[in-house]
Amino acid sequence: MFDTICAVATPLSAGSIGIIRISGEKSFEIISKIFDRKIQIGMINHGWILNNKNNEKLDEVIVLPFKNPKSFTGEDVIEIQTHGSPVIIREILNLVLKNGARLASRGEFTKRAFLNHKIDLSQAEAVLDLINAKTSKTASLAANNLSGTLKNEINNMRENLIEILAKITASLDFPEDVAEVEYAEILAVLEKAQTKIEKILQNARCHNVLREGIQIAIAGCPNVGKSSLFNALLNIQRAIVTDIAGTTRDTITENIDIDGISATLIDTAGIREGDIDKVEKIGVENSKSVIDNSDIILCLFDGSKGLQKEDTEVFQLSETLKKRLYIETKQDITGKTQQMQETNAGYTAENPIIISSKTMYGIENLKKAIFNEIIGSNVEDSGFLTNQRHQEALRKALEHIEIAKNAAQQEELQDLISIDIKSALLSLGEISGEVVNDEVLDHIFESFCIGK
Ligand code: GDP
Repeated sequence: MFDTICAVATPLSAGSIGIIRISGEKSFEIISKIFDRKIQIGMINHGWILNNKNNEKLDEVIVLPFKNPKSFTGEDVIEIQTHGSPVIIREILNLVLKNGARLASRGEFTKRAFLNHKIDLSQAEAVLDLINAKTSKTASLAANNLSGTLKNEINNMRENLIEILAKITASLDFPEDVAEVEYAEILAVLEKAQTKIEKILQNARCHNVLREGIQIAIAGCPNVGKSSLFNALLNIQRAIVTDIAGTTRDTITENIDIDGISATLIDTAGIREGDIDKVEKIGVENSKSVIDNSDIILCLFDGSKGLQKEDTEVFQLSETLKKRLYIETKQDITGKTQQMQETNAGYTAENPIIISSKTMYGIENLKKAIFNEIIGSNVEDSGFLTNQRHQEALRKALEHIEIAKNAAQQEELQDLISIDIKSALLSLGEISGEVVNDEVLDHIFESFCIGK
């Protein structure tokens, strides 16, 4: 049994309501000391919070009581909905603290939900992913994880491995009564698990990008149409567009959603050397560093002039290993039409993406190309998200499954095979949190906010 914790669950700024959460065995005792009515379980309770020194009314509130185990944390939980005044919220929080609760640490409510077996570790992590999701796609995948999609996927795999392990163990322990398990049967289970894990890991990069987002730099000589493309991708007039070279002196940043990927789009100052003023020089230096830190560079050149030597020089300023898409602008002047790509060869300077920011020609195609370049065109929607921790555990599990599979193919002693199946199970157990140490737990919950 843990002690009683409390925290403000809403942002501490003026708003319509504020929520204070209390969890632990003293929750009901504490609320009975500071609320002017008797709490009715299973009801929405309306009344006043009273300062227990002088019975002064602090705020008119709604109290939601949750009796264990039917609560988020699995403990007795009280939620007090106050008016959204930071002063009132703090006063009520202090009152709760004075009456026997302690301030919760980051993510402690969710940690308790995990420790009390209300959710597994992948679901606890999903809470954080859901809160931090930058696109509706990521939010929806995180919600799937929270509802147990990843948990079920891993549990199914574990159940099959546990079943075959039990059969092997029984035949080893009772050789007279239980026949040796057919190697073909062991192999079939291991192959199934291997295929499943490999499939999940194939999507690892996609999952990382969905969770973390990407940075896209728009690069090119002055006046090629960088700011216009920036505005076209955002669908608003954010960057200033003029025909005076050097108008964009600083980098401008906005977030956009590219098919569910959260992307930070950066319009770099036109990169040109030579006779430029001091301010523009700083802008150019900034642009170079932005380009170096980006995941993908959109290399723009003016279609009405064709690819110039200066364009190529600008593109060469970025690392050669960077992902790039070559883009020919101002299609409305050239009238060129896009030759659709039949392969995933990428768009080169010779075969660029053709766009017009004026008419929006090719803008959707460009978004698709960015998605394909970053994630690949063959990703399947797995319906859930994995993070680096899950991927690491899956890789370890895969290693053991491969060793066990090789051993089964060679018809080695089943005792030996069972050791690797057990190790694979332990690795898979890390995902759900069945096998996990305190350090990992602390690390996960430290990234939560207080009150969650
Ligand atoms: P930047 O210096 O690379 O950011 O270029 P801007 O976006 O400021 O554009 C430079 C000039 O090219 C402006 O006069 C724009 O109106 C013009 N321009 C940009 N994109 C297009 C386009 O798609 N079609 C046409 N016709 N003009 C464009």
